[in-house]
Amino acid sequence: MPYTKVTDNTFTSSFSSIIQTGEAEPVTTSTMTCIALSDELVFVDCGLSSRFAAKFRKDMEEKFQRRTSHLLLTHLHRDHYWAMGAFKDVNVVVSRREMPYLKRALKNIESRKKQWAGRYIGNKPIAKATMGANLFLPNKCVKEMLAFGSDEGVVFRITGGHSAGSAYVYSPSERVLCTGDNLLTCYAQLFGDGEKMLETYRHWETLNIEHVVPGHGEVVSKEYITKVRSYFEELISTLKELVDRQLDLKSILKHPKLPIYFGRNHASWMKGSRYHTGWLNNSIIYWYNKLTTQK
Ligand SMILES: [Zn+2]
Ligand SMILES: [Zn+2]
Repeated sequence: MPYTKVTDNTFTSSFSSIIQTGEAEPVTTSTMTCIALSDELVFVDCGLSSRFAAKFRKDMEEKFQRRTSHLLLTHLHRDHYWAMGAFKDVNVVVSRREMPYLKRALKNIESRKKQWAGRYIGNKPIAKATMGANLFLPNKCVKEMLAFGSDEGVVFRITGGHSAGSAYVYSPSERVLCTGDNLLTCYAQLFGDGEKMLETYRHWETLNIEHVVPGHGEVVSKEYITKVRSYFEELISTLKELVDRQLDLKSILKHPKLPIYFGRNHASWMKGSRYHTGWLNNSIIYWYNKLTTQK
C-alpha cells in the first residue's frame, strides 16, 4: 500500500504515490494524514482524488477497527480538500476565514471543474479526479482553535500565513504536527503572509514535536522547522543589506551573499522539478518586495 507509517497511530499518503506521470504535479503531492485516537479516526486533508481518499479511509478503518469522526482541512486549496466527498458522513472542519472562497467556488462549480480539468488534458488521473469531486460546505467552522478526542486528543489551530485561514493539526500524544502548506519539504515555501508564517514557525518550535508532516513532501523532524525559520531570517537580513546598497532585484537574485536554501539538498526535494527553482526565487522576490515597499 502507498502509505507511510509515521508513528504506530499515524499514517500518511498522497495521490502522487499511486500515479506515475513523470514529474509530479504539486496538485498531486499534497499530504493526507490519518491519526488514530483511542476510539476514533481523524483525517487531516484529503487530497484531490475522492476515490483514493475513500480507499485510504477504508483501509485505515479496517486496520484500526475504528470509525472516522473528523476530516480536518488545513486550508481550502484544491489539492487539500477536493476529495472531501469521501468524508460526507463525518464532521468536516475548516477555518471560518477560508469559507468565503469555497462559497464562491460552489456557485459555479461545474464550470470551474471543467476549467481546471482542462489544464490537465495530458494527465488523465488529475483530470478525472478534478471532475469527480463532490464538494459541500464543511459543517464545522472554527474561529481560532478546536480541541477534541479522549486522552490528549488533537488540536486544530488557525494561524494564517500560507492562506488567510491556514490551520495546523497537532497530536500531543503522538508528538505529530501536520503543518498544511505553512511548511513544504519538497518545494520552497509559498508565502501568503510571510510574517505570520515566521511567527507560526516560532510557535511550533515551542511545541513538543517529533514528527512533522508537511503540506507537500516527506515527513521530517522538528529541526527542519528551525532550519526554514533561520534561513528566512538570514535571507531577510541579507536582503536588507543589499537593498540598502541600492542593488536592483536582478543583481540581488544572483548575489553571492544570498544564503543557500538547505532544503534543496533534502531527499524529497523534487529533482528536475521546475517548481523548486521557480518557487525559491519567488520567495526571495516576496521578501524583497516587502522590504522595498516598506521603505
Ligand atoms: Zn498544497
Ligand atoms: Zn496551499
